[in-house]
Amino acid sequence: MKRKLLSCAALCLILALALSACGGDQSPGGGRDSVTDPGTVVTPTTPEVTPTPKVDPYDAVKNYWSEDQLTQAWGPDQVVEHLFFHPIIAYPEYAFSGAVSATDQKGLDDWMVTVDEYNKILQNVYDKGYILVAMEDVWSEVTDESGTHMVRNTLMLPEGKKPLVISFDDVNYYQYMLEEGFTSKLLVGDDGQIWAECTDPYTGETFLTQELDATPILDNFVLEHPDFSLNGAKAIFSLTGYQGILGYRTQTDRDVTDPAELEAFEANRQKEIEAVKPVIERLKETGWTFGSHTWGHINLANKSLATVQNDTERWLDEVGSLVGPTTILFYPHGARPDGDDWHTTGPIFRYLQEQGFRVFASVGSESFSYVKTDISAVICDRLHPDGRTLRGSRSRYLQFYDAQEIIDLDVRPDYGYDFTA
Ligand SMILES: [Zn+2]
Repeated sequence: MKRKLLSCAALCLILALALSACGGDQSPGGGRDSVTDPGTVVTPTTPEVTPTPKVDPYDAVKNYWSEDQLTQAWGPDQVVEHLFFHPIIAYPEYAFSGAVSATDQKGLDDWMVTVDEYNKILQNVYDKGYILVAMEDVWSEVTDESGTHMVRNTLMLPEGKKPLVISFDDVNYYQYMLEEGFTSKLLVGDDGQIWAECTDPYTGETFLTQELDATPILDNFVLEHPDFSLNGAKAIFSLTGYQGILGYRTQTDRDVTDPAELEAFEANRQKEIEAVKPVIERLKETGWTFGSHTWGHINLANKSLATVQNDTERWLDEVGSLVGPTTILFYPHGARPDGDDWHTTGPIFRYLQEQGFRVFASVGSESFSYVKTDISAVICDRLHPDGRTLRGSRSRYLQFYDAQEIIDLDVRPDYGYDFTA
């Protein structure tokens, strides 16, 4: 019920904004023209009405901190914490019901948080003094007498703030998620802001929302708490390509060979590509960035170099061509290439580095990072707020939030927990 009211409010808001925008077009000049005697030469006293530039609410976020307030140097030896989320569960009562298989429920419980849990986590990390920084600002590539290599930058922060990177994995709106109580795509609303499309799994009603999807929730949280963002930073999307991106089916399908079928597939694909472009543009404009999660969500630890090459080319063709260049690769399953050994620099790692990747992010129990010395690259780990760590890693996450206050045990399946861990 609550959700229905929210969705109605969202649509009403869009409608109101659309109407007010229409109202703005009726310029006073138009009114004056209509009463001018056509026989009289009127010297206009004011120039033509110029449209007032629309104020972008995000500007207040981008410009919140002035340079002279950034007096705290966060040096290369100080940890930049990194949390990552999967898409959040919009309808947990549905996701954790008989409508979803027991195996899938376990997966959702393990790797995801609900909307309410996510809201609480954001509030907690904000209350604990974290400030969002762009992942791209944490390291740089430099060339000096020792060659070309990566360095950890010193970040300039406001006093008392601690830097935090957030990444969102698999923001592709996979088909299976659409059937399990998640939102279905991101789009730009009539108000120029990012909204999520959502279909209520109980009623089948499709509507726009900013309350059930991680991206617009963070957008609005930052609008309400502009001091949570350094220079307008939000989070970085880690995207695969095999079911398109951001809810748009922009992928190729090599299994389609029938010419007529192929033509229809390609026509739809081009439509989807055109439709996602303004979404990417608005996300980039408002502090979001993009990295690769490989095209096929492949496990890099056990794939051949040829498979990785094929996958990487496809990611660059189908995803990189839309979101732009990136130096950041998020390992699917957290699995490192060349046998999952971070000490070595194997042929697959070397190939990926040659393709332009410099920061290689895995998953771990701390926000570890290491600048490699034999090649220009950084490897790092990210922490993962999800059912697993909420149930069994409370102490490791106390610097961000208390899992006991976050986890929604009423809605999640009864898998047990250990808050002393
Ligand atoms: Zn993933």
